[in-house]
Amino acid sequence: MAQRVLIVGASVGGATAAATLRESGIETVMLERELVKPKPCGGAVPPAAFDEFDLPHTLIDRKVRTCAVTSPTNQQTVFPVQGTMPSDNDYVAMVRREVFDGFLRERAQNHGATLIHGTLTGLRVTASGVTATYHTPQGNEQTLLADVIIGADGAYSPTAKLLGLPPTIRAVALQERIALSPAWMDHWHDLAALYLGRDASPDLYAWVFPKCDHVAVGVGTGPQHTRSIRDLLQRFKARLGDMLDGGTVLLREAHALPMYPRKHLAYDRVMFVGDAAGLVVHTSGEGIYWAMKSGQMAAQVLSQSLDAPSAHQLRRYERLWWKQYGNMYAFLRMLQSWGYRNERQMEVFTAMCRNIDVQQLTFDSYMHKRMATMPWVAQLHMTRDIALNQLRYTMLERAVRQSSSPSVQLA
Ligand SMILES: Cc1cc2nc3c(=O)[nH]c(=O)nc-3n(C[C@H](O)[C@H](O)[C@H](O)COP(=O)(O)OP(=O)(O)OC[C@H]3O[C@@H](n4cnc5c(N)ncnc54)[C@H](O)[C@@H]3O)c2cc1C
Repeated sequence: MAQRVLIVGASVGGATAAATLRESGIETVMLERELVKPKPCGGAVPPAAFDEFDLPHTLIDRKVRTCAVTSPTNQQTVFPVQGTMPSDNDYVAMVRREVFDGFLRERAQNHGATLIHGTLTGLRVTASGVTATYHTPQGNEQTLLADVIIGADGAYSPTAKLLGLPPTIRAVALQERIALSPAWMDHWHDLAALYLGRDASPDLYAWVFPKCDHVAVGVGTGPQHTRSIRDLLQRFKARLGDMLDGGTVLLREAHALPMYPRKHLAYDRVMFVGDAAGLVVHTSGEGIYWAMKSGQMAAQVLSQSLDAPSAHQLRRYERLWWKQYGNMYAFLRMLQSWGYRNERQMEVFTAMCRNIDVQQLTFDSYMHKRMATMPWVAQLHMTRDIALNQLRYTMLERAVRQSSSPSVQLA
């Protein structure tokens, strides 16, 4: 039998891994349990994904060119989506996952990957291979043999669970697709907004993202507040006020997001990519690009190691990943714990977004996945601005605490 790879999950990570493996002529099977319902997601994708994975722009509902960040006291920073070297390629793509994932899955099939509609239910990995059991939609049990399995099955990763690996720590996000009046749709035309504050999210953020015929209104929060996710969304919608007036909820969708990477991304005959590997980045909760990139990198390493797919060989993917992206993950983790720690820090974070160098650096790293270097004068200005805002809000907070006057406010 030819060497064969089984990929569990044919969403962005799995479909990208499958297409990459097929480029090396490796027999590839994708097992996917859900072919109709879209993956719950804000659908914000950086231009890097379109450039690096050769994606057609017809997949994009809207190109966002303006971003707004609103603090707990409703101080707002509005700024263009622009890197240090502004170009027409500066935007945030808004996609619907049913369209985006459908394209990637079909492309993998066109490259020769097989798609099976079924749910993984059992797994045995031995020195000689992988035996997977799955249920068809009709309830029949089937068995598949493979040389290697790739877990691309999301934040709950049944593959990891069946192998006895611990679950990742998870955040949760809830989102509604809301069709607005033409006037309000026009308002959001190419604008994406992030909102900070305990009412909407104690430790992450809330968002409004524009799509073709609706806006996606959502909230995310860490493991300590997952039970209050519905209340958080209600409060966020109340905060948006008349912006949502007359809107019709088309869909309500929720899902988990991993907060930390797995200790290892590969084992003997097993690899993990995307959310199953815990590769969502902090601060933004972005995971689509990272699932695709990890799917591609895992497949490239695997195609060179298929003759001896030991943990040591397959962990070359893990080593390459952290060499290339370790600094970015560490920086964004630090930024999240600093910027979303409490409402004072959320005010500082919003004020920090007023600094043009911060804006451009942020978008360079988000849009093009590169950490831009910056002249020392700009670095000095940036550091001074952040330090002054930190001092200002710390003093204001102290004044609010000490004052009996309700007129002293954090803003
Ligand atoms: C509400 C919300 C908003 C988000 N917004 C954004 C955003 O704007 N931008 C961004 O970049 N990221 C966003 N993310 C994160 C992003 O959705 C994920 O990081 C990304 O989808 C991960 O891709 P993946 O291929 O690793 O896994 P997933 O997309 O989760 O796909 C896993 C696949 O595995 C399948 N599967 C699971 N179990 C089985 C089984 N037993 N058998 C067979 N198949 C199985 C599932 O059906 C699914 O298709 C958001 C997440 C949430 C929850």
